[in-house]
Amino acid sequence: MINQKLHIAILASPGLGHLIPVLILGNRLATDHGAKVTVLVNKTSSSVESQVLNNLASGPNMDILEIPPVNISHLIDADTKAVAKICIMVREALPFIRSAIAGMKDGHRPDILISDLFCTEAFSIATEFNMPKYVYVPTSAWHVALKMYSPVLDKQIEGQYVDQTEPLKIPGCKSIRPEDVVEPMVDRNDQQYRELVRMGREFSTGDGILINTWEDLEQVTLEAFRENESLREVIMSTVYPIGPLTRPGEPKGPNRENHELMEWLDMQPCESVLYVSFGSGGTLSAEQLIELAWGLEISQQRFIWVVRPPARIADGSFFTSGSGSSDGTPDYLPEGFLGRTKNLGLIVSQWAPQVEILSHPSVGGFLTHCGWSSTLESLKNGVPMIVWPLYAEQRLNATMLAEELGVAVRPKVLPTKKVVDRKEIEEMVRTIMASEKGKLIRERVKQVKISALDAIQEGGSSVNAMRDFLKDVTVRLNMRS
Ligand code: UDP
Repeated sequence: MINQKLHIAILASPGLGHLIPVLILGNRLATDHGAKVTVLVNKTSSSVESQVLNNLASGPNMDILEIPPVNISHLIDADTKAVAKICIMVREALPFIRSAIAGMKDGHRPDILISDLFCTEAFSIATEFNMPKYVYVPTSAWHVALKMYSPVLDKQIEGQYVDQTEPLKIPGCKSIRPEDVVEPMVDRNDQQYRELVRMGREFSTGDGILINTWEDLEQVTLEAFRENESLREVIMSTVYPIGPLTRPGEPKGPNRENHELMEWLDMQPCESVLYVSFGSGGTLSAEQLIELAWGLEISQQRFIWVVRPPARIADGSFFTSGSGSSDGTPDYLPEGFLGRTKNLGLIVSQWAPQVEILSHPSVGGFLTHCGWSSTLESLKNGVPMIVWPLYAEQRLNATMLAEELGVAVRPKVLPTKKVVDRKEIEEMVRTIMASEKGKLIRERVKQVKISALDAIQEGGSSVNAMRDFLKDVTVRLNMRS
């Protein structure tokens, strides 16, 4: 337990996928470590975001401070990509963040600032107010290494990364296949690439980096952060692997759709249901949706599928998640799909209680876009995966899950490049849900589950890393006074 008076401000960048991990971290610091936590979030009109805020930010030591919405329409055009948009929104919000912190007078001003991965430009505000500053990256250490090493790769490599014939080398870490680079690295001429390199540099200017991973999962990369001299020349900050931090299940509310869904799950055999979801904002093309529907149907395996209307771009719903109803087969699914699969599966419109679903004993597989939160929720529940990366750092996650950890299968093609056809989908579903190979994968993921739970037990590596972080805070605050 730390001094009750420690007041931590955490900055969340726009987007539900960013808000959730920040709230989870805030919750942990407030509940387990007695800190007072103020989370600064962009004001939102999304009903799902409001619901998430209500569920995750209700603890006694936790305050939410809403930053007024910013208008960035004059700063973007139709080609501005998601990461560039987020960075512009954060930049435009900086004056509001500054006045929010300045407005908290003596005794009420936060002692330290934790910025999420897109908000490190706010470090200057922390410096102005003499606050130690940390960055929280709720992704893998491998991704952090790539991002922080990007300023070096930027100098070393000519031409597009995706056109390289050799994997990209990061000292002490596993190399990265050109086709796996994070989305902002795909086009080096785009603004979001320049933003990524800037952020990679800024991560090192803070007092430490909190990462939502654990020692046992990413031993090699984490060791490189600490001990590889070439990497340490670039990445000087201390890294704290404090994960897996995941959401607790939502309270069983009066929401009838969820209630019915959980009742349906209760009636299914153990590990028999495949859960299909593409995160808070992932969308598929019209053609791909049809193939996925047919693949699920012909596999004859049970499923719950969180369905969104088709979109042209893979992160089409990132800023616009909302809840909806699931009446009738939507016109973008094969005609009669709901009728034919009514004894096999359920579709849920837009949003499902994912944590409850993945922790339900009837769930035996997860077809996922490999967002890191979804990945951790699956690993922590010992659920094997079909990995279907769409955007952000998801291709890296998919490679780690399928090829390094052996807890997933993946399509032969990259789903954002080519349509995965129904036959291949059927095969992957059968492999995970009903095959000898699937059994081995299931055994492996259950080992990872044990290692995840060990890390967050008292005395576990992540609990110790969190304590080390809090000690560092104390030392820095003592030096300040
Ligand atoms: N999520 C959910 N219901 C849904 C879709 C997503 O509860 O229908 C939650 C999921 O449990 C996870 C988060 O939203 O905590 C998605 O984060 P992730 O990093 O997996 O993907 P992103 O949305 O950032 O792409």
